Amino acid sequence: MNYKCPLYINGQFIETAEKQNIINPSSGKVIAEASLASDKDVEEAVSGARQAFDNGPWPQFSLPERKEFIMRIARGILDNAGRLAEMETQNSGKPIKETTFMDIPSGARSFEFMAQHLMDYLEGRQIEVNPEARAGLSREPAGVVALIIPWNYPFLIACWKLASALAAGNTVVLKPSSLTPLTALELVRIIHESGIPGGVVNFINGAGARIGQLLCEDKRLDMISFTGSNETGRQILQYSSRNIKKMIMELGGKSASLVFADCDLETAVNSSLTSIFLNQGQMCTAMSRIFVQEEIYGAFVSDFVQKAKRIKLGLAENHETQMGPLISDAQRKKVIAYVDKAKTEGANLVCGGRIPENPELKNGYFFEPTVLVDIGTHSHIFREEVFGPVVLIHKFSGSDEAVSLANSSDFGLASCVWSKDVSLAQEVASRINAGTVWINTYGMFYDELPYGGFKQSGFGKELGREGFLEYTRLKSVITDHSEQGKPLVNYWYGF
Ligand code: NAD
Repeated sequence: MNYKCPLYINGQFIETAEKQNIINPSSGKVIAEASLASDKDVEEAVSGARQAFDNGPWPQFSLPERKEFIMRIARGILDNAGRLAEMETQNSGKPIKETTFMDIPSGARSFEFMAQHLMDYLEGRQIEVNPEARAGLSREPAGVVALIIPWNYPFLIACWKLASALAAGNTVVLKPSSLTPLTALELVRIIHESGIPGGVVNFINGAGARIGQLLCEDKRLDMISFTGSNETGRQILQYSSRNIKKMIMELGGKSASLVFADCDLETAVNSSLTSIFLNQGQMCTAMSRIFVQEEIYGAFVSDFVQKAKRIKLGLAENHETQMGPLISDAQRKKVIAYVDKAKTEGANLVCGGRIPENPELKNGYFFEPTVLVDIGTHSHIFREEVFGPVVLIHKFSGSDEAVSLANSSDFGLASCVWSKDVSLAQEVASRINAGTVWINTYGMFYDELPYGGFKQSGFGKELGREGFLEYTRLKSVITDHSEQGKPLVNYWYGF
């Protein structure tokens, strides 16, 4: 199948002269030609969004009208769900089971959720400051927002950001990863068909280093919502420091799962496999470090490895595939380099670590589920994000050591605790430096719950009331009801 991928600026789909091939990572074949934005296109996208915010009808629509648009987008996603799932699978290499049951329906749900809650979240309040003065606190949209998306959840993260940004009344410039622009553009088509006025949503595609910089340095933007790597996050902070913008930074992770001896072992093993190997380990919240209490360490590793070997690698489009390819050859090379380095640093490879031999997979970017043990806590792989199907399993004796190991990371995105003793698990969770801790489960994201990291994993939240409110600004209007205003102010100069 060959897709087209134009830009979308000021309500118009635009094919540009400069193009880039979009590759299916399962087959290495070209599946689309994507238009690349020039500097002028970036400039027009930002002008369009600025104009639509300052003078367009969008910010003037009533909240029920806005709600209706957002609900229409949710319905549009569900009406196109099968096609979107196929496209996401072909572009990202995510197995079709994942895109069908997770990414696409969850994206629709985020729009529904924000539509249902926007009136409640945007409600202002009155504060009596003193007997004469009353203050009104109101929530306004942040303004023009750049939404910058990574390649690992191209559709879902675009939905999270767009649902909140639009429900809050902003106008946006959406920039997907240049590896995975297809479903983000399809989402934009659905938004176009919902009748949202031109200029409210603009879509530009191209290499982050060039158009990302142009976008983030633009003074006419009010806010940047970024999800991606720490390296890019640091660059964006630098660009935007020239003209001060509000930011959300959702960055990398090196998350820890703590498996206590009293856990349900089978559940802990099965769920820990999901917690690292889903989406080929290319998840910011991947539990890439698993710490197991010494009493059950041997049994855990043996069951985990035996089951990891049974995970079925295959073309992402096949319904029986459990693990697809990595996003690109470059990503696979990076993963292989980490595994090789870990071995030279003394780690023991007990599973995988190879490119599969199946001839059907030879043109894709596949890599076997990989398990390393006996890793030194100072080794590179213990500290750095690999972003692939590679897990380290390590032993601990008591809860203090477990917490200390979990926290011995620059990142603080997420964590898991496995134990039948829920009070112990909750006490451990309270000591873990991470924005999300799952107890006896993994990876459930809820639209109701804000999500975001601590430490080098970034700042700001997505989802929930707090995630939504990130896309707003808070205004205080103070009215003095006394006859001659506040005496201290009125008579300050004695006139
Ligand atoms: P990346 O940083 O390479 O790219 C992310 C986005 O930034 C892309 O759209 C890219 O084109 C753009 N970009 C690149 N250079 C830029 C620049 N100089 N200025 C502006 N924009 C630029 O990240 P990636 O490889 O696409 O994604 C993987 C990373 O994302 C991992 O580190 C992962 O942990 C992180 N991630 C974090 C979360 C979270 O919620 N914390 C979620 C998903 C992914």
